[in-house]
Amino acid sequence: EAHTAERGMSLLRRLADHGYEGYFVGGCVRDELMGRPINDMDIATNATPEQVLELFEHTVPTGIAHGTVTVILEGEHFELTTYRTEGQYVDHRRPEQVEFVSDLYEDLRRRDFTMNAIARGLDGEYVDPFHGRDDLQKGIIRCVGVPGERFDEDALRMVRGLRFASVFDFELEADTWAALVERRELIRYIATERIRVEMEKMIAGPHPVKGIHLLQKSELVGSMKVHVPCPVARPELLERLERVAGEPWVLRWTLIMLALGFNDEAARQALKQWTFSNAAVDRVVRLLRLHQQLLTVAITDTTDTNNDQQINDDEQTNRNNGQQTNNDMQTDSNSARLTLISGVIHYGQDTAALWRQLYPALPEQDRTHVLRQLYEQAPAWIDQMYAYSLADLCVNGQDVLSALDTRGGPWLGKLMQQLLLAVASGQLSNERHTVLQYARTHAETGGETD
Ligand code: ATP
Ligand code: MG
Repeated sequence: EAHTAERGMSLLRRLADHGYEGYFVGGCVRDELMGRPINDMDIATNATPEQVLELFEHTVPTGIAHGTVTVILEGEHFELTTYRTEGQYVDHRRPEQVEFVSDLYEDLRRRDFTMNAIARGLDGEYVDPFHGRDDLQKGIIRCVGVPGERFDEDALRMVRGLRFASVFDFELEADTWAALVERRELIRYIATERIRVEMEKMIAGPHPVKGIHLLQKSELVGSMKVHVPCPVARPELLERLERVAGEPWVLRWTLIMLALGFNDEAARQALKQWTFSNAAVDRVVRLLRLHQQLLTVAITDTTDTNNDQQINDDEQTNRNNGQQTNNDMQTDSNSARLTLISGVIHYGQDTAALWRQLYPALPEQDRTHVLRQLYEQAPAWIDQMYAYSLADLCVNGQDVLSALDTRGGPWLGKLMQQLLLAVASGQLSNERHTVLQYARTHAETGGETD
C-alpha cells in the first residue's frame, strides 16, 4: 500500500513536471484520513484525457467521454479524471454528458458528500473547501451544497449516504437526512443495479443492521422499483448478520432471506429482481434448500425427543431408559445423516461447508438438539461418504440400462440418484454386481421395459 501511495505520488510529480495539476481525491483521501485500507486511487487533474494519454506510457481509455483515463504504473492502476462538472441532470440521474472545467474547486463541488470532496496534493496539502475533514472527525455525512438539490440531481446519492452511514457507523446531518426522507420517491428513477451495488457494500460492511434500519426508517426501501420488504420482522435473525463478520457474501444474503421469511423460491425471485447474477442467486438458493431440509429433519426429530421428554417427566420412576434413549438417538442421527448426505450430493460440499458457517449465526431457538448434532457430526459424516457424485459410482446410466435391458426415461435419473445416495451412505457397497442388483429391484421404469 505504501508502494501504491508512492507510485501515486510519482504520477502527480510527472503531471506537475509537465505543468499540470493533479490531486488525490474522493474515496482514497477519505479512507486514508480514516485509517482504512485504500481501494482505488482516484486522481483529479486539469490535464485533458488526450494530454493524459500522451503523457503516460501505459494507459487505458476507460471512460474518455467522462474524462477518465486509467494509467498503469508498475502494474498498479490509477484513475485519472479531468476536472469536470456533470452538466445537466435528466430524470434525477447522473448525466451521460460531462463538462470539463479548469478549476479543482468546481470538480469538488459536484461530489456527493463533504467527506468525499477532499483533495490532497503533491506536498500532502489538503484542499477541503467543504470542511470534509471536520465532518469526518465528527462522524457526519453531509451533502456538498444544498441537500435537496443534490438528491434532485442524482437520487442514487441517497442510497450512498445510507451506505456510508452504515459502513462507517456515521450519522446523517439533520438537513441531509430531512432532504433524503422528503425526496425518497425519486429513488425509483435509479436503475436497480446501481442501488444493488451500494446495498452490497452496505451488507458487507461491519454494521449492516444499521443500514437496514436506515433504509426502513427513511422509507427508501418501499419507494424503490423493486419491492422487497425490509427484513426487520425477525430482528433476532437480523442481529445475526453481524456475527458472520468477514464471512462470505452468501451467508449474509442467506440470513437476510431467512429474516424475510423467504423460502428458496421467494429468495430466488427477490435476488433476481435485485439483479444479482444467476451464479450468485444459485449459491444462496442452494444454501437455503440445504438449510430447510436439515431444519425439517431436525424439527421432526426434535418433536420425538420432546415427546420422550414428556414421557420421562410423567413416568420418572420405572425407567431403565438408557437403552431406549440410545436407540432413539440412533434413529434420529441416522435420518439426519441421510439428509445431510443427500444434501451434499445435491448441493455440493461447498454448500455443506457454508451451512456449517451459518449454523453458529442461527438464533437459539433454531439450534435444536438434532441440528447441533448435525453441525458437530457433519465433517465426519461427509468425510466418511463412499461417493460424492455420479462419477464416483461403479456403474453409469448406460450400465444400468443394459442390465435392465430397457430404454432410458425420466426414471433413470431418479434411480441413479437413489443408487448414489445408497452407495454414498454406505447402505450399498460400491460393487457392480450389488449396485445393479439393487437397480433391478428398485427400478420404476413406468412400464417401458422391453
Ligand atoms: P468506495 O470506497 O466504495 O469506492 P467511493 O467514495 O470511492 O467509495 P466511488 O463510487 O468509487 O465511491 O466514487 C468515487 C468518488 O466519486 C466519490 O468519493 C465521490 O467524490 C464521487 N462520486 C461517486 N458517486 C457520486 C455521485 N453519485 N454523486 C456525486 N459524486 C459521486
Ligand atoms: Mg472508490
